[in-house]
Amino acid sequence: MNESDRTWLLEYFGANVLFDEPMSRHTTFRIGGPVDALVTVRTEQEIRDLVLWAREKGYPVVILGAGSNLLVRDGGIRGLTLKLAGDFEAIQLIPQANGSGATVKTGAAVPLRQLAKYAIDEGLAGLSFGLGIPGTVGGALRMNAGAWGGCMADSTSSIRVLNRHGELASLDRDQLRFSYRRLELEEGAVILSGQFKLMRRGREVLQQEAVRMQKQRKSTQPLSLPSAGSVFRNPLEEKPAGELIDQAGMKGLRVGGAEVSTIHANFIVNRGRAKASDVLTLMRQIREAIHERFGVDLEPEVTIVGQEEDS
Ligand SMILES: Cc1cc2nc3c(=O)[nH]c(=O)nc-3n(C[C@H](O)[C@H](O)[C@H](O)COP(=O)(O)OP(=O)(O)OC[C@H]3O[C@@H](n4cnc5c(N)ncnc54)[C@H](O)[C@@H]3O)c2cc1C
Repeated sequence: MNESDRTWLLEYFGANVLFDEPMSRHTTFRIGGPVDALVTVRTEQEIRDLVLWAREKGYPVVILGAGSNLLVRDGGIRGLTLKLAGDFEAIQLIPQANGSGATVKTGAAVPLRQLAKYAIDEGLAGLSFGLGIPGTVGGALRMNAGAWGGCMADSTSSIRVLNRHGELASLDRDQLRFSYRRLELEEGAVILSGQFKLMRRGREVLQQEAVRMQKQRKSTQPLSLPSAGSVFRNPLEEKPAGELIDQAGMKGLRVGGAEVSTIHANFIVNRGRAKASDVLTLMRQIREAIHERFGVDLEPEVTIVGQEEDS
């Protein structure tokens, strides 16, 4: 990025722009090379101005939530990474007139865990699965995150987006194409907020259910080491990816600082100083072994962005 573009960003965003910022500081994997500029936007006006400026200048924009599903390559990201905060951190409850439920309007930067806890405390069912998922509402919508048989698509009634032309739109549920761990969106579209239609249920029942889910997660996932959650999508009509990887005897396999978790075989953990190239090599080895042994082609669930180190 040239000096005059850096100056423009600095003058507009001040302390909310970080140059040559290591993405390892912004991903739960603790992996990733530097991005040219990481910009935190706090209002719709700011995001519009930034998206239009980036488009005019030809800078690609990577949208960052909590970085919990991101593998950033070691060479980092050329262009901009955009993170939401400020106005995008609000939760608003809109009760239904008949008392049977409520709509919760939530900014995309709200942690999904916070939204799930809010819904449980309000005695509203439908988002409890999100309690153990370390992403933001925007990232969770984009990934159609889910667990325990529930997912974002189940309760989403609409989302608000800004496209790369700077246009705002509200998309209703019937316009949203959700599928397994995915929401199809126009390229470059940023999710600004979501509305969730939730049904009323006893708060205590929801709290007890949440405790059970959290307990099980703690005993089946390697939560004390950096990771990006499940690395591969579960192949449809097959055993879960973790089971296939386990059966192939790959638990504990290591490349550099990256290791196939000994607790959950579909997690790759960063044992310290892992590089993205270590993770990618391990992923390639797993895909080859699973293809050879079971004839199944595993697809990554983790979103891979950025450049190779020497490109
Ligand atoms: C320990 C652990 C456990 C996990 N368990 C689960 C689980 O049970 N179920 C599950 O589904 N996932 C799980 N995950 C994965 C991850 O938490 C989810 O995919 C989460 O929804 C990602 O949200 P994020 O905000 O971190 O998105 P990021 O990782 O920052 O981004 C993911 C993708 O979403 C895009 N994105 C982010 N924000 C926006 C936005 N506002 N607008 C448009 N695009 C956006 C990014 O560009 C990227 O393509 C787990 C991860 C970890 C580390």
